[in-house]
Amino acid sequence: MKLKWKAYYKRNHKISIRYLKKKLLNVKKSGMKNKGTRKNIPKKDQLLIWKRDNWHCRYCHKPVFYSIALKLFNKINPKHEYFHPNGKAGEMLQLFQWSWATVDHIVAFSHGGKDCIENYATACWECNLKYNDTEIGKGKPVPKGIVQSNWDGFYGIYKILGEKRP
Ligand SMILES: [Zn+2]
Repeated sequence: MKLKWKAYYKRNHKISIRYLKKKLLNVKKSGMKNKGTRKNIPKKDQLLIWKRDNWHCRYCHKPVFYSIALKLFNKINPKHEYFHPNGKAGEMLQLFQWSWATVDHIVAFSHGGKDCIENYATACWECNLKYNDTEIGKGKPVPKGIVQSNWDGFYGIYKILGEKRP
């Protein structure tokens, strides 16, 4: 993957919906549907996006958590229920329930959005569900700028704990 996003985001602190659509659509005419199947975003690209966005949701600016780290915490200490795959109430700590990191297509694939890093934004699980299948400008907001923060979503502690485990 080409790392064009740094320059892209430097230029586009305030991104207009029109610009986004022009830049991120596969097709010239909006409303045209993508053909074929959507690819899953590779894990290494997901990490790039979360790191680029400093582990904050680009829609509500809340800090997000690395779900793989939460899963590891579960293994180490199951009674605390750090993570549940569906965020099930009562089976996962409320603190983390709506706040694990996901990757959102800014312009949805079904609306012609490209599969490229410029079209991805970090979203908390809550915003991911809320804006799922809504179109940008029609209920779905334009992503906010990147929060300046040292927060790492527990990625650093995951690396340390993960490496220590057999
Ligand atoms: Zn959010």
